[in-house]
Amino acid sequence: MLLPDTMNDESAATETPIPAGVYADIVFDRPLDHPYSYSVPEELQSEIAVGKRVEVPFGRGDTGTTGYCVRVHEIPPLRAVKAIRKILDEQSLLTDSLLRLTRWMADYYLCGWGQVLQAVLPAGVRDQSGTREAAFIQAVPEADLPAPLQVLTPKQSQTLEHLRNADGPMEQRHLARLAKVGAGVVKSLVEKGYARKFTERVEKTTLEADLETVDHRALTLNAEQQAVWETIEAAVNTGGYHSFLLHGVTGSGKTEVYLRAIEQVVAQGKEALVLVPEISLTPQTISRFRGRCGNVAVMHSHLTDSERGAYWRGIASGHVQVVVGARSAVFAPTRKLGIIIIDEEHENSFKQESTPRYHARDVAVMRAKLENIPIVLGSATPSLESWANAERGQYSRLDLPNRVEARPMPPVKLIDMRHEPRSSGTFSAISPTLERAMRDALGKGGQVILLLNRRGFSTHVHCPTCGFVANCQNCDLALTFHRQRSSLVCHYCGHEQTPFRKCPTCQTPSILYQGMGTEKLQAEIEQKFPDRVTQRMDSDTMSRPGSHQRVLDAFRGGLVHILMGTQMIAKGLDFPNVTLVGVINADAGLHMPDFRAGERTFQLLAQVSGRAGRGDLEGQVMIQTYTPDHPSITLAAKHDYLKFAELELAQRKEHQYPPYQRLVRLIVRSENEEAARNFADLLAGAFREALHRADRQPPQSPGVRLLGPAEAPVYRLNGYFRHHFQLQSSSPGLLHQVLREVLAVARQPSNVEYQVDVDPFNMM
Ligand code: ADP
Ligand code: ZN
Repeated sequence: MLLPDTMNDESAATETPIPAGVYADIVFDRPLDHPYSYSVPEELQSEIAVGKRVEVPFGRGDTGTTGYCVRVHEIPPLRAVKAIRKILDEQSLLTDSLLRLTRWMADYYLCGWGQVLQAVLPAGVRDQSGTREAAFIQAVPEADLPAPLQVLTPKQSQTLEHLRNADGPMEQRHLARLAKVGAGVVKSLVEKGYARKFTERVEKTTLEADLETVDHRALTLNAEQQAVWETIEAAVNTGGYHSFLLHGVTGSGKTEVYLRAIEQVVAQGKEALVLVPEISLTPQTISRFRGRCGNVAVMHSHLTDSERGAYWRGIASGHVQVVVGARSAVFAPTRKLGIIIIDEEHENSFKQESTPRYHARDVAVMRAKLENIPIVLGSATPSLESWANAERGQYSRLDLPNRVEARPMPPVKLIDMRHEPRSSGTFSAISPTLERAMRDALGKGGQVILLLNRRGFSTHVHCPTCGFVANCQNCDLALTFHRQRSSLVCHYCGHEQTPFRKCPTCQTPSILYQGMGTEKLQAEIEQKFPDRVTQRMDSDTMSRPGSHQRVLDAFRGGLVHILMGTQMIAKGLDFPNVTLVGVINADAGLHMPDFRAGERTFQLLAQVSGRAGRGDLEGQVMIQTYTPDHPSITLAAKHDYLKFAELELAQRKEHQYPPYQRLVRLIVRSENEEAARNFADLLAGAFREALHRADRQPPQSPGVRLLGPAEAPVYRLNGYFRHHFQLQSSSPGLLHQVLREVLAVARQPSNVEYQVDVDPFNMM
């Protein structure tokens, strides 16, 4: 763990003696900053607490600024400090464990602690949305009644009786309603000393955490599941940090093992945290957890601020036993966490692409260490980072190499698109071989899933006469034609424009709309299978809450025969009647300038193949490809993760990529092309200088390599010109040391920004 000495660097000495007193260290929502000490005025000393927000004078002109209190102490600082003006929260927003976790994140991801806190605490928690101030009335016990007692009117004594019959305090308005009296009657009970009044914040609405009534009984584990479970059970019962990497093929029954672990933890009176990718938060998944595990809070991105706030408060007050959620659920303020489970641990969506650029899996592992509890990372296709950690012995590997009930893995056939016959010159997305297989599967009553990882209609709009290509005006990215919206759309920045009828450059009307997206695929399938019901699932059709569920329900119920879509359909779905999975273009992601392109392709193909043959009917998979010899494709077709990991790791080692070296990517961007280039050169130069210090060169140290600066693969994005460079080293400690040293003094011009991405995923 990296702990920089940022806590006490108020170094300048002063002549005036600093008075003894109470001090608070405050952090702000600013990059790479250290805590600032403030004195706590006497009248605020009983209220100040770690995890509350405060208003303090800050910066030039002592502007009132909001910060987070991260420490309260009595150590007089070395020089005079200013005083806190106001305390903004009634209760601390953070648990001790979150405080330590966010501190680690700020250090590791090289950003401000205050920035992390600002990002981690949901808006609904900060502004208490969804709560209201409520007045409560509590009966005074007989022994404490004042003497002499004042007489009560009949209405008042009736009301008092209602109050005394209640279990405890009652909300004032509920009491008044129950006793059928006005607020004045309740007030006089308080005035006469029979009752006390206090206020408290309560939820405006109560969340129905447990709507599911479906009975999900535990299954009898098979021998392999049993062996895995016994290992995890021992860790759960002993307690203490232990990380497991559960490598289980698709359909091997990993979830059943998670459920056992959760039940065990809940039975011990502790809580469980389950992270899954956002797209796996399907009603099917949720109902499996809800049916088995007590009070389950589900944290997904469709929650409103007040719902999120309500869950947060519910978790913090101990009303929730199990938290299931996407990336940010890793910060759930549980009180007594007993286990963390991460399903599909290899998923890229666990990496956040804005500050703090954290990876929820890595944060979860650190959280498990800090809270001293077990953690299980599960996947059919573990990330190579986790796989290497298991090989190094940092994680204990657990295996489920077979599907449950001895179901076979589906046979996978590669269709070599270079040699498929074309029907009469027109381009079609599905080859004759795939089309035949679809007719066959559908004819036997099976269902079909088709994967095409590109949305829209045409992905490439260009003029064959002059070479014009329709690119976004803000980005170096091609515009995609969306037929339903009748619009050309940039998938990065959202820019839209009306489609061209003729070429805007040479004015010829020959402009071509080529390239295959899911919209075009759907049109082709509807035309070829007019008597079948088809559904498309991508972020265009699935933007409304609930739409996902409707389509999946229809597919499960057999009302839809062919389901097609982007990676959204590739993962986690469990439909027993799917007998054919087709992949339209397996090469789509293979040729990106990204060292993880091969890994991603393998993962996607292995995951989508896992959707076939999950029930009693046997399934098969057909993958269309122009590179049928690429190892990512051949090994996915053989379901051979072990071989793939071995080959790919050897490559990574040779090229010194993660997991053998740590990578940090810096992106410098500006709307001014010149300014971006200059500052990138300057910053990279500062790094080069820092690296050339003798003690940082091998053989004294493992060394740090600097690659770049260069134009980013997507040079212009959202109107910004972008340069990047990378630092890499086998020693994360050394890497961070160099970064801190240089970034602490880096001052960019006002029209330039830079981003630091530790363990980057996006290389574009
Ligand atoms: P994975 O998450 O590994 O892909 P799941 O946990 O979703 O696999 O399990 C796949 C299917 O097998 C589910 O329908 C589940 O109910 C079923 N299943 C799991 N364990 C068993 C078992 N021991 N016996 C019978 N069916 C099981
Ligand atoms: Zn754009």
